[in-house]
Amino acid sequence: MALTGLDIFKLLPKTNCKKCGMPTCLAFAMQLAQKRAELDACPCVSEEAKNKLDAAAAPPVKLIKFGSGDAEVQIGQETVLFRHEEKFHNPTILAPTVSDTLSGAELTKRIDAVNALQFERVGSHIGAGAVVVVNDSGSDATFASVAKTLSQSVKLALILCSESPSAISAAVAETASLKPLIAAATAENVDEMATIAKDNKCPIVAKADSLEALSDLTEKIKSLGVEEIVLSLASETLREQLYDLARIRVLALKKAFRSLGYPVLSLATGDTPDQQIASAASLICKYAGIVVLNTTEPYAFLPLLTTVMNVYCDPQKPVQVEPKLYTIGEATADSPVIFTTNFSLTYYTVEADVEASRVPCYIIVVDTEGTSVLTAYSGDKLNEKAVADAIKKTGIEDIVTHRKLIIPGYVAVMSGKVEEATGWDVLVGPRESTMLPKYLKEVWCSSGN
Ligand code: SF4
Repeated sequence: MALTGLDIFKLLPKTNCKKCGMPTCLAFAMQLAQKRAELDACPCVSEEAKNKLDAAAAPPVKLIKFGSGDAEVQIGQETVLFRHEEKFHNPTILAPTVSDTLSGAELTKRIDAVNALQFERVGSHIGAGAVVVVNDSGSDATFASVAKTLSQSVKLALILCSESPSAISAAVAETASLKPLIAAATAENVDEMATIAKDNKCPIVAKADSLEALSDLTEKIKSLGVEEIVLSLASETLREQLYDLARIRVLALKKAFRSLGYPVLSLATGDTPDQQIASAASLICKYAGIVVLNTTEPYAFLPLLTTVMNVYCDPQKPVQVEPKLYTIGEATADSPVIFTTNFSLTYYTVEADVEASRVPCYIIVVDTEGTSVLTAYSGDKLNEKAVADAIKKTGIEDIVTHRKLIIPGYVAVMSGKVEEATGWDVLVGPRESTMLPKYLKEVWCSSGN
């Protein structure tokens, strides 16, 4: 739990020496509590106080990173129970499985299917973030071999799934430089697993069948020198999983229960992709840091990735595109100029319709703080001044030789004021952007432009 200004003040030297730039220690403490100052600014604070303050400032759910380079992913560091209180920070990682019983063409096919789980959605790249190699074979050598193959052919973070220390040791020997997540340490194997994790600087999953046992296990792992921990509960049903996920989050956030202050790995339940989609969607909504799916069906992943995107976007900030000039096709000095707003969905709808017209175009995106055309107009975020500013900032006047601006049909009422503010002739475009291809071909092109 966050410390108050008075809590922090009690840990400061109370000499009012002003070296931190504040007139008193109390003033500095208040600034620290509001996260407007850094503790390092006080050169006189004791090591003991520093450790206490650092511990208190640590997020209630620890940030865990695994994978390396472009494939590195991070989970945890969450601070709220409900996203409307602030936002959720690190999106759930979706991880398909690859069994080490696969070989030859079957293994290649599965790897190709895993690699295909990458998509574009409203200008953002989304996709599976990790791949889980499962030691179904029971053989250390086979497990290590498939883990090595995956590390070379899949550009995703790796999760090594076996409760056999010798199998994990063999697989880590082939993949340690990629910082795989080791899954999992249990009460039975914790000493050996923690040693492997510590020696190879890999994070580790702690797996138990109750919260009490899980809390004991994380304490044991920490005592063995491993701080990077992910939780996993062997819950039988989706109902139990959701209940446990909620209890872990509440205990970490509201009770500052450090033993369970880690992100959670959950398994999507169900034998079919359809069942797994349903359970995975629920797990994403209720705090799972990683969801493992035993399928590589794109129709399962795409809606789940969309769910992740929606749950983890900032509820106080609409999804936006950068306000600037976008060039569609081989636009020239004679090409039409359209404006729209920087609400992501609005922009990408307009962009798709302009592309469909096959008429090269310039689209000026006006900064309306991520709101759509009508919302922005109603809130006075889209007005003649905003349009005139966007025209100046984008430099479009040096790019095209004409001075004709196509505006959205919904804001035809702005025409006169936009003409006055910009000096451009306004052409009122269609109300719906789906009509843009017809408009550009029939109105723009056929009117001699
Ligand atoms: Fe107090 Fe430290 Fe600031 Fe000095 S530098 S006034 S001791 S907080």
